[in-house]
Amino acid sequence: MKKKVLLLFSVALCTVLMAQQRYVMVIHGGAGYVDRKTLSPESEKAYREKLTEALQKGYKEIQAGKTAVDAVAAAIVVLEDSPLFNAGKGAVFTHDGVNELDASIMYGKDKSAGAIAGVRTVKNPIKAAIAVMQKSEHVMLSGRGAEQFAELQQLEIVPNEYFRTDSRWNSLQRVIKEEQNKSVNRSAFQQSLDADKKFGTVGAVALDKARNIAAGTSTGGMTNKRYGRIGDSPIIGAGTYANGQVGVSATGHGEYFIRSTAARTLAAKMEYQGKNVQTAATETIDEIGKLGGDGGIIALDKDGHVAMPFNTSGMYRGTITDKGVVEISIFK
Ligand code: ASP
Repeated sequence: MKKKVLLLFSVALCTVLMAQQRYVMVIHGGAGYVDRKTLSPESEKAYREKLTEALQKGYKEIQAGKTAVDAVAAAIVVLEDSPLFNAGKGAVFTHDGVNELDASIMYGKDKSAGAIAGVRTVKNPIKAAIAVMQKSEHVMLSGRGAEQFAELQQLEIVPNEYFRTDSRWNSLQRVIKEEQNKSVNRSAFQQSLDADKKFGTVGAVALDKARNIAAGTSTGGMTNKRYGRIGDSPIIGAGTYANGQVGVSATGHGEYFIRSTAARTLAAKMEYQGKNVQTAATETIDEIGKLGGDGGIIALDKDGHVAMPFNTSGMYRGTITDKGVVEISIFK
């Protein structure tokens, strides 16, 4: 009897403590079909370490009193520079065998936003998106114009080969082969998903000391995408959104996230229907699932509550609290 009471008490205490947990940052490194059988312990360790490093870099900015935008940038640059993720170095290939990158940022304080799409030479696409937000009159620049703007802003420019990794190249070859073998009725994107069911896009949402929220997303898109294809990641309201109440970053089959205006839908559920972040995020992913899309979403509200639902078998994800406590998860 005594034991039972003690157990009940500790469960209640844990629940209260968890409810009081205030998160200041949440990140993702993509959703997809990852399971314990396909992910070796060494790879799992490498992912966990990188996600932790990204969270700690972002946290440092927040602790130093910098803005949520600075924190998002710091975290995303770590992930872009790592070949493990489909963003910056390690980005997936287009059908033509090049890397074309997309990124976006939104700052909830004043709803300012910036995005770049289809760039081939900007080392850190998130920095270019931030420059568009802070130093141009525009919200989105694409292709050569975005690259020229990044050059003018003196961002680091690299040859396209910088982004190349053998594993992404091999994925493209597998997908192209599959495409040739399969019936012409199936879309190229669906085939690419079947062959390489990992998305690997990266995203971060941060809450700074002034209680402003920023959200950012960076990606190479989807393996075998056609020349010029733009996914949800650089589209404000689809892959990224932030207002005074919540910040959102998505990952998954971008076409479905665009059609669902996913990130804004989540925020609207909170704004107009008074739903909490968990309900709003879960409903948004469920609706995408009903359309046939897969992926995940991370969201952080102004009170430090997070939601990280996904409808794939895994999503690389992590949180850090205001006390600096890091938690990383990959599987369901
Ligand atoms: N959402 C990205 C896109 O469609 C892919 C991803 O999340 O990995 O471009």
